[in-house]
Amino acid sequence: MSTPVLTSKTHKEKTVIIINDHTIGSGIPTVIAGPCAVEERQDLISLAGTLKDMGVHILRGGAYKPRTSPYDFQGLREEGLIILNEAGKAAGLPVITEVTDIRDIETVIKYADIVQVGSRNMQNFALLRELGKTHLPVLLKRGFAATIEEWLLAAEYILAEGNWQVILCERGIRTFEKYTRNTFDVSAIAAVKHLSHLPVIGDPSHATGRPELVAPVAKAAMAAGADGIMVEVHPQPEKALCDGFQSLLPEQMQRLIREIHGMVNH
Ligand code: PEP
Ligand code: MN
Repeated sequence: MSTPVLTSKTHKEKTVIIINDHTIGSGIPTVIAGPCAVEERQDLISLAGTLKDMGVHILRGGAYKPRTSPYDFQGLREEGLIILNEAGKAAGLPVITEVTDIRDIETVIKYADIVQVGSRNMQNFALLRELGKTHLPVLLKRGFAATIEEWLLAAEYILAEGNWQVILCERGIRTFEKYTRNTFDVSAIAAVKHLSHLPVIGDPSHATGRPELVAPVAKAAMAAGADGIMVEVHPQPEKALCDGFQSLLPEQMQRLIREIHGMVNH
């Protein structure tokens, strides 16, 4: 690394983020799960309850979807935020959702407990600076063509504005390999744990794009030192409006959680 990463020089203590009764970065593996996108209200309320019962800590669901094609489902926007917030409250789970546009920040922070910045926006510096002025934790996904250094410096844009609650998320990078949707960079997990005081989460769903690879890659992330995982779960993956193929069924998620707990306890 050529450029010094500023806060790792000055900030020696690990960042621990408190969300209701759960802490991120304190040694207890954080499990974030839910559908790619918020869809039907009753389905999400029911899924949220199921996820809470199996030990999920945070409910995910996108309301503003950064789709590759403008003709694909773009998310339910504020209506989606309302549904997500209601489902989280009903289940007793805090919620995370993505913000893609600086103009939507005010709306998103009314309903979200954690704000997600997606891979495509990792270097949207105006968005990062604005989120740095808020008080909400921000989960910053690694850009699919970003180096580790660029990722950490993107995090600095948020920290530099005074918001210290940043969570990093490795979600795979683009390589020549086509079998998987992206290539999960497990060494990046170990590297940022070494270089930074920030917690890091692994996202095996977007990294692999294949449901049968989600559990092994989630466990690889944990073995490399991740503070938790974020996994897409849908009760009927074949009917999902976004990223259904890579989504786990609730029972598959439950098995993965048991396996992760088993890893930690040994
Ligand atoms: C997502 O989490 O649904 C998402 C769009 O992820 P990424 O930004 O990593 O592609
Ligand atoms: Mn997705």
